[in-house]
Amino acid sequence: MTRRILVALGVFFLASHASAQSLDLFTKTTTEVAPGVYSYGAFSARSLFVVTSDGVITTDPVSAKNAADMRAAIAEVTDQPVKYVVYSHQHWDHVLGGQIFKDEGATFISHEKCIPHFARHPNDELVMPDQTVTGDHDLTLGDKTLKLMYFGHNHGDCMLVMQVDGTDVLYINDLVTPYSVGLGFMPDYDPGEWLRTLLELEARDDWTQFIGGHGIPVAPKDAMVQRRRYMEALMAAVRDGIESGQRLEELYDTIELAEEFREMRGYKTHIRRGAERIYHYYTMGW
Ligand SMILES: [Zn+2]
Repeated sequence: MTRRILVALGVFFLASHASAQSLDLFTKTTTEVAPGVYSYGAFSARSLFVVTSDGVITTDPVSAKNAADMRAAIAEVTDQPVKYVVYSHQHWDHVLGGQIFKDEGATFISHEKCIPHFARHPNDELVMPDQTVTGDHDLTLGDKTLKLMYFGHNHGDCMLVMQVDGTDVLYINDLVTPYSVGLGFMPDYDPGEWLRTLLELEARDDWTQFIGGHGIPVAPKDAMVQRRRYMEALMAAVRDGIESGQRLEELYDTIELAEEFREMRGYKTHIRRGAERIYHYYTMGW
């Protein structure tokens, strides 16, 4: 209970002040969000690791430096070896740098649809997956099961949402960055499928908080609802602009959402690029 109150207070603080102050993006912390379940990282990038009775499961290494720091953070809470590394999706800002875990014998897992991306865009710092999953999959190690959940195309096509069975916490990488508009212009996002995925996640009653791939250590479900509402507002505004005859350049210059969304982190920087992405979604069919 105390932890939830602290999280709520922290969320209130960030929501109230995030745009008014310069956030510390790079100080890494370890936060236990459920017994043996940890949010690790900084505002700039964040991962989940799980300590079980038979070893550790980590998610995205992010970079060689981050993986080394995360390995040290894991050693502070357990002397168990890291046995699995699970990639959330294919983007390099999350999956690079896992060699330190490979060296201690970890098995790497991703969704199978990540493999063509890794093949097309090779990177010397990427450890290729040893195993792939094709859909929902239970990864059991010792006394814990990490549920890997696949919702189809959304942020790319190989995103896995994760949940340690029996906890109310999800790891939702990049589909939501709490209280932020995120990089909605990325070309491999499918806005419609992304929104569908958020609605499917929102409809589930088996979670109340989540760890994002960037941002604060843990956020309440409301932060995902805010992102879903932002996306709906952005898509509606662009659709209205197109229907009233606006060209992209005009839309780009005039797009403005309701006050409540303007307070989200990154709004000023990304609203035009987000609108441009949605414009193409509606006018190009992608
Ligand atoms: Zn991504």
